[in-house]
Amino acid sequence: MPAAMFDLHRLVRPHLLDLKPYSSARDEYTGHSGIFLDANENALGSVGVQTVSNRYPDPYQREVRAELARIREVGPENIFLGHGSDEAIDLIIRLFCEPGKDSIAHTPPTYGMYAVSAAINAVKVVEVPLTPQFQLDTDLLLRKAAKTKVIFLCSPNNPTGNLLRREDIEKVLREFGGIVVVDEAYIDFADDPGFVKRLAEFPNLIVLQTFSKAWGLAAIRLGMAYASPEIIRLLQKIKPPYNVSQSTQTAALEALRFVRIKDKMVTSLNEERRRLAQALAKLPFVQQVYPSDANFLLVCMDDPEAVYQYLIHLPQPIIVRDRSKVIRCGGCLRITVGKESENAQLTEALKRYRPETVGHESL
Ligand SMILES: *Cc1c(COP(=O)(O)O)cnc(C)c1O
Repeated sequence: MPAAMFDLHRLVRPHLLDLKPYSSARDEYTGHSGIFLDANENALGSVGVQTVSNRYPDPYQREVRAELARIREVGPENIFLGHGSDEAIDLIIRLFCEPGKDSIAHTPPTYGMYAVSAAINAVKVVEVPLTPQFQLDTDLLLRKAAKTKVIFLCSPNNPTGNLLRREDIEKVLREFGGIVVVDEAYIDFADDPGFVKRLAEFPNLIVLQTFSKAWGLAAIRLGMAYASPEIIRLLQKIKPPYNVSQSTQTAALEALRFVRIKDKMVTSLNEERRRLAQALAKLPFVQQVYPSDANFLLVCMDDPEAVYQYLIHLPQPIIVRDRSKVIRCGGCLRITVGKESENAQLTEALKRYRPETVGHESL
């Protein structure tokens, strides 16, 4: 079924279409002033913390969404905010997939949470591996995923670091009758506008982004899903009422005043990425440093497990991600771009690495 015949109501789990959502105190009275005796909060204040936190936060995060809408040039009605994009992944699966019956598709090697979230929800997973060049095999994907409800694509992809070809994503959006999620957790590091501005073209598109990477706010747990107002309304309907805390909303609003600082950090990290890639490529045991549109590098080498062990057993341990057991990533470590001094330490340590001394250095 091509997306031209896209029918959202046929995709959503029927009992959720009819669901009457929980109505919170803040749903039933939306005014800002008055004496609030409706939510069983503690009127005296808060224990222990500096910031008064005794009132429930805005369940619909209106200020943050308005500000994000302005920056990303979409409507607030196109934005859902979750407890990390991981919450959005879970809610998307729960909105569309009947446990024990429906399935999703993803394209390994890719982000692990799509399959884990599906498994938690007893939803089957169809795997359609990326090509050896880490791109989509669109014909195979469209064929194998035809009966699934949701296809998860990740661009730039984790752990390979590359953008998926735009025309391939467009083809999947046009020809797949279900939901296409494009996870853009790393889009700020890429020289590409991504898909947020194209929601009007594709009613089946959901774009995920996050404050955890380029914004440097992994600890506040805030992720966004951009989609049609219809899809956003459904996600709002099934989310926990107060899924984004007040401190998170406050921190996000503060961050959004400083987009230029985020952009500067991205520029520095991308410059570091270039330097680190060059240095790693010179090491004798490194076979390939893959091009990256993200803040990490996938690096293929001789005996990655030995290199991993060597790095964690240094007096000052350096921890990278061993991806060598992952499909299409044989021989690979995934290395996050650190600050200049950290990347220099890594490079120096790797220059000192001798394959035959593994296991002895740490003794
Ligand atoms: C890190 C990452 C996320 C994580 O998102 P949170 O907002 O921290 O939950 C999502 N998708 C991909 C591909 C990631 O690498």
